[in-house]
Amino acid sequence: MPELPEVESARTVVAQYALDRVITDVDDTDTWVCRPHAPGSIRAALLGSRLITANRRGKSMWCETAAGPTLGIHLGMSGKLVFIDESGDEHDGGDYWQRGRAPGDHRFTRFALKFADGTELMLVDPRRLGRVRLDPPVEKLGPDALTVTLKAFRAAFAKGTAPVKARLLDQEAVAGVGNLLADQALWLAKLDPARPVLDLSPADVARLHRAVRAAVAAAVEGGGVHTLSVIPARHEGGTCPRCRTLMHHATVGGRTTWWCPREQR
Ligand SMILES: [Zn+2]
Repeated sequence: MPELPEVESARTVVAQYALDRVITDVDDTDTWVCRPHAPGSIRAALLGSRLITANRRGKSMWCETAAGPTLGIHLGMSGKLVFIDESGDEHDGGDYWQRGRAPGDHRFTRFALKFADGTELMLVDPRRLGRVRLDPPVEKLGPDALTVTLKAFRAAFAKGTAPVKARLLDQEAVAGVGNLLADQALWLAKLDPARPVLDLSPADVARLHRAVRAAVAAAVEGGGVHTLSVIPARHEGGTCPRCRTLMHHATVGGRTTWWCPREQR
């Protein structure tokens, strides 16, 4: 499932390849992925226009267009963006697929833009839980987890009885932390996922802030959340990569959570 790093890799594909090309065709016929727009309405809004920026906050991505409306692209559970360049080479970014994607495999294309120079940008999404829409709401999202300041982070963790893991997953508190990033950050910060937010000391919050940014940066650098160091220990019999204690697991914040019971307090 894409978390912030996977969405960032999709955003990079758009930023590197798809900007400033004139849009000559739009496939917006998938009424589920393009809801609530009727087929043809995204097409009508974008024909002759260009994508001019590629933005991301948390797991949400949107492009400003020369014509006015922004184009929102959400990768859902399994989405990748694929750009086909002038020589037919493909550049993709987005969700990590264990078996990869063969070039030319466009079976799961849910939305596509064709450009005047013959290049193309498509959303390929086997599970069809991605979404494309005009002017998506992004104002409710919290600060982006890759760049959130300590001050803004403290404000998001200032009060409440929610478990710290649940607060990390709350996209209006901090945007972009999914289940695996949350487990990695809590493990780095040596915090028990079930600790209530109001129980955290200022030093705990500062450590967690550093851990979130470090976890996100490592995953962006490494190519996705599957590369994070605690992920291989998230299974029955898995041991903490630092102290070799048997990892515990339970449902915290509605999600399966793994932690080191010796170090995470
Ligand atoms: Zn440990």
